[in-house]
Amino acid sequence: MAFTITQLCTDCKDISCTQVCPVDCIYEYTGDDPSIPKNMLLIDPDECIDCNACVPECPWEAIFENEEVPDVFKDDIELNAKIMDQPRIVPERPADMTNPTPEEVQTNKEKYGYAD
Ligand code: SF4
Ligand code: SF4
Repeated sequence: MAFTITQLCTDCKDISCTQVCPVDCIYEYTGDDPSIPKNMLLIDPDECIDCNACVPECPWEAIFENEEVPDVFKDDIELNAKIMDQPRIVPERPADMTNPTPEEVQTNKEKYGYAD
């Protein structure tokens, strides 16, 4: 099954999710393949244990169980899988990071044509 981080994470990367993942399977890509983004995090679907801990922790509401990924973000399921066997790190949340306002979360969703 696994969980997927969607484009809603792009350029946000506040890195709340890595702090709660019990198996450290949420990664930042560190390689040179331009088809794998570095400005968002990605979940290794082989390592994810489907615990759901990251979903409520994400202030940008960017993470979904694969079966619940909105249509507009369906391609992100494959994108997350690309992180398998790649150069990668589990980033730490910066100490000075603050969470977005509800308005910022909504504006970010609208940017991708997604409103729940
Ligand atoms: S569902 Fe659990 S194991 Fe999977 S990425 Fe989220 S926190 Fe990690
Ligand atoms: S908590 Fe959400 S927005 Fe922040 S880095 Fe993780 S997936 Fe991206």
